[in-house]
Amino acid sequence: MADVTLRDVRKSFGGLEIIHGVDLDIKDNEFTVFVGPSGCGKSTLLRLIAGLEDITSGEMTIDGVRVNDLPPKERGISMVFQSYALYPHMTVYDNMAFGLKLANSGKDAIDAKVREAARILQIENLLTRKPRELSGGQRQRVAIGRAIVREPKVFLFDEPLSNLDAALRVQMRIELAKLKEDLNATMVYVTHDQVEAMTLANKIVVLRAGHVEQVGSPLELYHHPRNLFVAGFIGSPK
Ligand code: ADP
Ligand code: MG
Repeated sequence: MADVTLRDVRKSFGGLEIIHGVDLDIKDNEFTVFVGPSGCGKSTLLRLIAGLEDITSGEMTIDGVRVNDLPPKERGISMVFQSYALYPHMTVYDNMAFGLKLANSGKDAIDAKVREAARILQIENLLTRKPRELSGGQRQRVAIGRAIVREPKVFLFDEPLSNLDAALRVQMRIELAKLKEDLNATMVYVTHDQVEAMTLANKIVVLRAGHVEQVGSPLELYHHPRNLFVAGFIGSPK
């Protein structure tokens, strides 16, 4: 659990600024969803929070600690990507345990964490399988399980359901909402799916071309979109 703050955060690639002075307060225990068109900087913002990219200027804190120069593994963050990136030669169990083994956790502690995550995600019966023996939805559960076992303070999700078919997306949406209750952690979730944003979010951040266009609860944005751009994504036009 942790607050994340961004103050005038900017990011340039090769001299070209693509994140233009973003200010955000991501509250502990809230489900914050970033929405916006392709290329507006959603993934880049997540990668900046995770520390996978350095910010060019500005300030970022997690849990009150300035993290501008903190390496990713010291930030207490787990990130779940759109592509599941499981290790094909390892079982589900070993995929989930892998990061913990690297961190030198004890065997019993690892076992307890993997089994608890498997229980939450209802994949206890899949632990001995290889990724190729799983459906897309099951693989994505394993990827989420891998994030859970690390017990991060902050979860970052980058369009985790976009490779799933419509029915499975609906089911996973419900389970993600439940997961949020179970884990009691800060969640930052990127999607371009309006329904996903409306159903999962406590707070929606609408991004446009590298800046924040509007922040609010789903209902606030729905009823009071600041402009047609926001309305087009979430609301009903004024
Ligand atoms: P989104 O996730 O909202 O689709 P991205 O954050 O992936 O958008 O990209 C935002 C912009 O930054 C795009 O114009 C993209 O081409 C650019 N960009 C992202 N990563 C890099 C990079 N490593 N080098 C150069 N440009 C990048
Ligand atoms: Mg993206």
